[in-house]
Amino acid sequence: MFFLLILMNLLFSQEQKSEQWMNHSVEFKANCYQVYSNASKMLDSAIKDRMWSAIPSQMEDQMVWDKKLAIILDLDETVIDNIGYYDFLRSKDTSHTSENWDIWVSKAEATAIVGAVEFIKKAEAKGIEIFYITNRACKQLDSVKCPQQESTLENLKKIGLKSDDYHLLLKDEYKSWTSDKGIRRQMLTEQYRILMLVGDDFNDFYDNAVNLEQANKEDALYKNIKYFGERWFIIPNPNYGTWQNFNK
Ligand SMILES: [Mg+2]
Repeated sequence: MFFLLILMNLLFSQEQKSEQWMNHSVEFKANCYQVYSNASKMLDSAIKDRMWSAIPSQMEDQMVWDKKLAIILDLDETVIDNIGYYDFLRSKDTSHTSENWDIWVSKAEATAIVGAVEFIKKAEAKGIEIFYITNRACKQLDSVKCPQQESTLENLKKIGLKSDDYHLLLKDEYKSWTSDKGIRRQMLTEQYRILMLVGDDFNDFYDNAVNLEQANKEDALYKNIKYFGERWFIIPNPNYGTWQNFNK
């Protein structure tokens, strides 16, 4: 068994091993369940504490108690699981390109991350609005202005979640909606008390994380680490993310 593990280590690239872990391991599924289960347990405290917010700038806002309640989640590898994309690429004997990703998104075949649907339904039942801030990009294809919006809503419906274009904020839907998610988060704070953030990338929590150098990113993490497990909930993603910019 030991030699088999060594052989597999030699045969597969780190990228393949990450994909295999997310595809086949019970450990990944248990991690996801753990994240959503812990987030569920914090829902009542978050609602009851009328000054509670997951957005640091909003924690200073004395009028925050008067706002509607919301939770912001990322989509890919947070709510929806795109592991099928790799099977799709293999079936076509091709690799990742933005065109292939567009085809995959249009198929609306991603599955649900373990625990996500149950958590979202529980939050909705408590009167919390769910917003998805995703870096799936709005791009005109053929004559359709943003087909990614409809495909993503269809995919959410397939995994049992109802949403609409108001609650789904795609990258490039407006000029200022860049890959940094800060502007979209800040916009929502005008009307909503944001109870929790859920994501798989530091960019899902911290403004301007995409542009930070590694040392500054670590600094930002340790200044805000107390929020993780209480207001910020992170799903592990060894496969891709802004963590790959560690040479910056
Ligand atoms: Mg993601």
